[in-house]
Amino acid sequence: MSERIPVKDVTPVKVHKPDAAKHENAYTPRSHIYVRAVEGTLETFRRFFGLIFLGTFVILPWIQFNGNQAILFDIGAQRFNIFGLTLWPQDLTLLAWILIISAFALFFVTTFAGRVWCGFMCPQTTWTFIFIWFEERIEGSRNKRIKLDQRKMDFDKFWRKSLKHFSWVMVALLTAITFVGYFTPIDQLFVDFFTLSTSFWAGFSIVFFTFCTYGNAGWMREIMCTHICPYARFQSAMFDKDTFTVAYDSARGEKRGPRPRKIAHENLSEKGLGDCIDCNLCVQVCPTGIDIRNGLQYECINCGACVDACNGVMEKMNYPKGLISFTSEHELSGGTTKIVRPKLVGYAVVLAIMTGLLIFEIMTRVPLEVDIIRDRNALYRETNDGLIENVFTLKVLNKSQTAQTYRVEVIGLEGHKYIGENTVQVVGGEVFNLPISIAIDSYALEEQVTEFRFHVQAIDSENSIEVTESSKFIYR
Ligand code: SF4
Ligand code: SF4
Repeated sequence: MSERIPVKDVTPVKVHKPDAAKHENAYTPRSHIYVRAVEGTLETFRRFFGLIFLGTFVILPWIQFNGNQAILFDIGAQRFNIFGLTLWPQDLTLLAWILIISAFALFFVTTFAGRVWCGFMCPQTTWTFIFIWFEERIEGSRNKRIKLDQRKMDFDKFWRKSLKHFSWVMVALLTAITFVGYFTPIDQLFVDFFTLSTSFWAGFSIVFFTFCTYGNAGWMREIMCTHICPYARFQSAMFDKDTFTVAYDSARGEKRGPRPRKIAHENLSEKGLGDCIDCNLCVQVCPTGIDIRNGLQYECINCGACVDACNGVMEKMNYPKGLISFTSEHELSGGTTKIVRPKLVGYAVVLAIMTGLLIFEIMTRVPLEVDIIRDRNALYRETNDGLIENVFTLKVLNKSQTAQTYRVEVIGLEGHKYIGENTVQVVGGEVFNLPISIAIDSYALEEQVTEFRFHVQAIDSENSIEVTESSKFIYR
């Protein structure tokens, strides 16, 4: 058996590092990162999350609810259907709440476990790993890909490159159609797209998002995480010494270096060696091309690939696992991680309150809105039989997804005469303009302006759907 460690890779590793000697006064060109495939607990975990996320993304727009697409952000009609709930531009505050809750959820997760969102859930990472999966299947392992790129073009290289880009474009296209299917009915969109009869904007959006997905996951990859995404820059503001993040235990790992396999772990210190065998695997599996042994870096997306790679090496060497692990600064310096701490509790409390309020708001939301518009031409007029008349238009907005019949009543105006329809049927998601007049004997009016209310109620709904709006009856 060889005495050397079999995992040592002799291929020169191209990492994303400046070459100061060659490019003193210029921007350093980016080195392509050849990500090595890795197996391990965290990789399995990420694939599991990725599959759930991907499955949810693909399946959600196909679900029907009450005969409608369950989730449809219909920008043209200015309404968002989320299962039974329809949100209108007037409900923008709910959207603001959802964004605030998402922000606090991100703060909470980042304070607790660093950039796990980036490593396990972010679409950029998920799609990048899907594209790398195709790359690996078609062009081979990392070393084969490096050699393929260094080779001149031949038939083998040509078909592999062509097939890779074709598969990337297909994934990007399906992603784009699915994404656009959240904004326009997806079943019709698929038919229209494959019969070349989509509307201009739907077609343009599909082409645009295909290009974005292909460019981001195929070409830009880590550039998006390290240079464009603002989260990489401000995440450090949320870190503290108890935040779990991927880190290398330098006290245990140094002095790094190759060694004969026969040296027992307990004899390493006698030889002046730490646990790191300097195999570089942790760098080769890193999707952002960094060396975690250099300490915490903003490029690290906490994907845990280096943890899996290093654990595999430690297993082969019969060393304890965890030379690179999810750990905290406190733990690395010999202390213990404090899970319950004021900042984390603060985020959790705000998150719980905001989520509770949002749920309450949604549960108590009335799917009906009434706007009252007075006749602008005349404040009042006298009818032939001597009554004082005010004219109004009631804009009745049915914010539900089914047709409703509403009854309109006037409250607080004794002796009035209601002229016009007092029941109206409104299609789901539509506004109905109801012109009406109210007439009253002038002797019944004590003031020039009399406050009263319109009460509008759905009469064929099992739930109580009613709205009361104030208005004024004007005389003189
Ligand atoms: S930290 Fe682990 S994976 Fe990285 S070079 Fe050292 S032994 Fe290899
Ligand atoms: S250093 Fe490790 S955890 Fe960070 S991005 Fe690279 S592989 Fe992922």
